Amino acid sequence: MFFKRNAVQGNASGVQFINGMISFQGVKLNVFCFKTDGILIDTGSQSLLEEFKPFFAEADIDQVVITHSHEDHTGGARHLQIDYGLPVFMNEMSIRECAEKAEYPMYRKLFWGNRQPYKAQPIGESFTSRIASWKVISTPGHAEDHLAFLNDDTGQLFSGDLYVHPKTKLVLREESIPTIIRSIEKTLTYDFEELFCCHAGYVKDGRQALINKLGYLYELREQTLAFHQQGCKEKEIQKRLFPKKYPISYFSSGEWDSIHMIRSILAEEQ
Ligand SMILES: [Zn+2]
Repeated sequence: MFFKRNAVQGNASGVQFINGMISFQGVKLNVFCFKTDGILIDTGSQSLLEEFKPFFAEADIDQVVITHSHEDHTGGARHLQIDYGLPVFMNEMSIRECAEKAEYPMYRKLFWGNRQPYKAQPIGESFTSRIASWKVISTPGHAEDHLAFLNDDTGQLFSGDLYVHPKTKLVLREESIPTIIRSIEKTLTYDFEELFCCHAGYVKDGRQALINKLGYLYELREQTLAFHQQGCKEKEIQKRLFPKKYPISYFSSGEWDSIHMIRSILAEEQ
């Protein structure tokens, strides 16, 4: 199977980044990780490790912080820990899982590789880097262990997979739209402007982008509930709100699908 990979490095508003891309038969995925004030935020995927190694090698960093345990954020963690002796911090609830062999579906292993075990430490509610102090914001919904990191000195938010796209059209089976809504509402109570997203990259007006996303999700919830009240079943609601099918839905045997958005909204109502 022929997977195409490449990576580009850059700098946005004082933050260095690398963006790795991987594509196969019309499915294109990408992931970012960021470097600022001696910390590395997320580590990319194991499948892109060779592309990311030069970025890590040049990195002047003392610690690695991880937004959540998904394999496209944790694939380089073992390399950074073993080859550079760097401490890795993440949500306590995922430490045990990440110390073991990774278990996730085959299509994800094809795209993102096999995340190698690593030993993380609990990140707590705040941390400090060389000059900045940081807040850790628990933001579940995309993943239970999901965290966002706010640099209090610069007002820059590193939002992991909280943002990704302003108009989300499909999510993973275990994702919850109502929980994501609460996490965005909570994040917006903090003082930040710029946002660094692990898939969209640098978003200058990050606060407005999250506000827009929240508006879209409110509307989606409203429409879903209105159709439900009219007696529509979840598949009918999906047909009306998300008529388009995406290649990743087939590749993932439905693990990525818009139906999970509708189900999670209806589940909260019942
Ligand atoms: Zn994720």
